[in-house]
Amino acid sequence: MYEPDTIAAIATPPGRGGVAVVRVSGPEAFAIASRITGRMVGAADAGRFFHTTFHGGRSCSIDDGLVLVFASPHSYTGEDVVEFQGHGGSVAPRRVLEAVLSAGGRLAHRGEFTLRAFLNGRLDLSSAEAVIDLVDAKTSRAATDAVRRLHGGLKDVFEKFYASALELSASVEHALDFSEDELPTDFADEIMADVETLASAIRCHLSTAREGKLLREGALVVLAGPPNAGKSSLLNALLGEKRAIVSPCAGTTRDSIEEWLEIGGWPVRLTDTAGLRDTSDSIEAEGIERARDLVSRADIVVALDCDVPGAIRVHAKCDLGPGDGLPVSSKTGEGLDGLKCAIAERLSNISAKEEEGDGADVTTRQKELLDVSLTVLSRARDALAAPEWVLAAGELRACAEALGRLTGKVYSDDLLDSLFSRFCVGK
Ligand code: GDP
Repeated sequence: MYEPDTIAAIATPPGRGGVAVVRVSGPEAFAIASRITGRMVGAADAGRFFHTTFHGGRSCSIDDGLVLVFASPHSYTGEDVVEFQGHGGSVAPRRVLEAVLSAGGRLAHRGEFTLRAFLNGRLDLSSAEAVIDLVDAKTSRAATDAVRRLHGGLKDVFEKFYASALELSASVEHALDFSEDELPTDFADEIMADVETLASAIRCHLSTAREGKLLREGALVVLAGPPNAGKSSLLNALLGEKRAIVSPCAGTTRDSIEEWLEIGGWPVRLTDTAGLRDTSDSIEAEGIERARDLVSRADIVVALDCDVPGAIRVHAKCDLGPGDGLPVSSKTGEGLDGLKCAIAERLSNISAKEEEGDGADVTTRQKELLDVSLTVLSRARDALAAPEWVLAAGELRACAEALGRLTGKVYSDDLLDSLFSRFCVGK
């Protein structure tokens, strides 16, 4: 369990802005708020907000703003929470935070507010993952998707899987206390049938689940082609700004460059690669190795005047003359919209494949756990067929454990660390 101390952080991003929020959560939240506002703040203020002056050390005024009060358990973390909405910028919020820290708060770690929400049963791990995805969403489409999962779309399904596995493991565990001839004759068959039911429910969920990877991680679009084909220029033209080094001498783009942009509502990681050709220059050779790797991992390859299987072939520098493929000129802008359309169309197709079935999304972590549980269930089936009761009990316990990790019914510090370290401070 966590130390119930009081944590604080600036919850808004740094930089110039109208408003900044300093969030405080824990048993001392109201006491700290009382010190800073110079008036008694308590549970009676919950659900309300008031305008006040914030005071720092020695009662000097540091800002004016709003105070929002949430009383445990009706808050994001489940603890007493106070939010100070002061002026933005780089100094004002820091001063409020410092005042909170010197009044007894402790700087929060990444994701610690959401971690506490989880530990206090305010949300399960599948919803917490949706929170990260919502904050990280690069497009509106990705955000809509995260919100759906935030509302607990997966929690119920996962909890049912977990409950079945737990029940199965308990039954077999219980059977260990009896000898073979003391058990009902159809006991093994019944357990076997239940194992099969659970396995097919998990398989069914996996097959209808959309990985939603495209929306979360963005599609990897790789520009490939020989040196001087015009890859860097095309990257710049698609981005609408100068980014990569453009040079008339071959082999200048040694590193791959990655840029985010939106094409037809899809988040795209557009990558320019070093020219695909043999070279004796070792630094460049490494770049080429990386380029080959990128092409093999790409969701879409845009091949500039060269053949790459499955790629969108373009004829670059079409202003200089005709050639094979979609005509594009980075110089005149001709064909850029056509290329974007072609990319968007491919992404729709990839996504449609992902979306087959009406299942909810599944994250990579969840998919791994579901795969593990299937593997373990199949081992449990073999053990039951033997019958090796002790072995079967162990496998079923392992299955329940994997399924429990989906929602956080079962968790370890490592799991929480790796999940919540993906958050920002203040979330
Ligand atoms: P990369 O090595 O494939 O990245 O190629 P670059 O983008 O560096 O371009 C190589 C050369 O071709 C540069 O001199 C560019 O100015 C030129 N170039 C690139 N795109 C076009 C284009 O659409 N039209 C014309 N005329 N020249 C281009």
